[in-house]
Amino acid sequence: MKRIVVLGAGESGTGAAVLAKAKGFDVFVSDSSTIDPKYKEMLDSHGICWEEKQHTEADILNAGEVIKSPGVPDKAPIIQKLKERSIHIISEIEFAGRYSDSKMICITGSNGKTTTTMLTYHILKQAGLDVGLAGNVGNSLALQVAESPHAVYVIELSSFQLDNMYDFKADVAIILNITPDHLDRYNYVMQNYVDAKFRILQNQTADDAFIFWNDDPIVAREIVKRHPKATLYPFAETHEEGVKGYIDNNKMILETSKGTFAMEKKSLALKGVHNLYNSFAAGIAAKLVDIQDEKIRASLSDFTGVEHRLENVARVKGVDYINDSKATNVNSCWYALQSMTTPLVLILGGTDKGNDYSEIEQLVKEKVHALIFLGVDNAKLHAFFDGKVPEIEDACSMEECISKAYKLAKKGDTVLLSPCCASFDLFKNYEDRGEQFKACVRNL
Ligand code: ADP
Repeated sequence: MKRIVVLGAGESGTGAAVLAKAKGFDVFVSDSSTIDPKYKEMLDSHGICWEEKQHTEADILNAGEVIKSPGVPDKAPIIQKLKERSIHIISEIEFAGRYSDSKMICITGSNGKTTTTMLTYHILKQAGLDVGLAGNVGNSLALQVAESPHAVYVIELSSFQLDNMYDFKADVAIILNITPDHLDRYNYVMQNYVDAKFRILQNQTADDAFIFWNDDPIVAREIVKRHPKATLYPFAETHEEGVKGYIDNNKMILETSKGTFAMEKKSLALKGVHNLYNSFAAGIAAKLVDIQDEKIRASLSDFTGVEHRLENVARVKGVDYINDSKATNVNSCWYALQSMTTPLVLILGGTDKGNDYSEIEQLVKEKVHALIFLGVDNAKLHAFFDGKVPEIEDACSMEECISKAYKLAKKGDTVLLSPCCASFDLFKNYEDRGEQFKACVRNL
């Protein structure tokens, strides 16, 4: 019996273990930190052996194949040892794909993945399709394949999941954009990260679709280089030769092999140019799986958005507070700043991932009159922004940050948390940072 070792026992690892067990493999799960009791219970109930807070080499290096959770970095010593022994390492999505003939709609990009995934899922679900949500958001694909298979899956894929994918095929692949992110995990070589993203196209044929933002310079360059086999669906704000999703006369137009779709731009629920792109991508994907036009229109206009992404929290004494805690890189903050129409108090800071703040410098100078740096180490932010904005303050807790924001903001301003950085220095994760922001604002 082939032995499968699963590294990491979160949502994807546990799901992969359950599927592997159901397919008759000898399964062992190993996690270097503590495993959530919910997943321990799931593993126990399926009779799967596991360990936590360690990786016992004797039980891991005898694997026939290893399923690695996206959170386990390539630099982890155990991964290096597996590689030295040429043991095949795959992702949970790759493994699940072996046991499913369902249609796979896969979404990647540096920013907008979750929003586009949720929006696409919303359209398909509201239209009554038998659809599952998987990948970075939602439940493990492997667990669904094992226990409650769906006809179609909408899957959010991070570069880390794509890194370990080989034979998996996306029927519909979406690349929203590519800007620097997670470079710390790619040896600070941008092309390594770009290559990971483009794995989403591998194995596609002319019967498959590739949806992408036409104006992204990196995507454009790679398409010339790679000649994708899939049918191309570029989208852009304005109509140019070959573009299939665009705005014409204030209408969103989507030209697909399944017919042409149109709706008023002003009826789109999600605002801001970045969300227009997300709506193009989701709308084209929905057309390609035969959703009726009126159902697509209804869902694109009633989608309520995703928490922690430009989420309106409250208006206090004429000041709007917006939670964009998920803006963990500079580009997502750029889009947030770009969509703002009032003077701003901007909250930046956290764990820097190799950020270059020059991308937002111009918008900050134009729109921001006060900056608050919320982090353990704000030196890099000071080095870049000092002298460029009238007021700059430091804060080392959310309470302190919001009380300073409250004092700095004038009537008609917006206080925007769009930090450009990961949250792990002061918070459990970006959700925790966003929750604390909302709680402090509601206490004002
Ligand atoms: P991801 O899952 O790729 O991290 P999210 O949908 O969670 O993307 O959004 C992350 C951040 O990026 C949010 O701050 C959001 O406002 C911003 N954003 C959303 N869509 C886009 C896009 N198409 N381009 C750039 N930024 C975006």
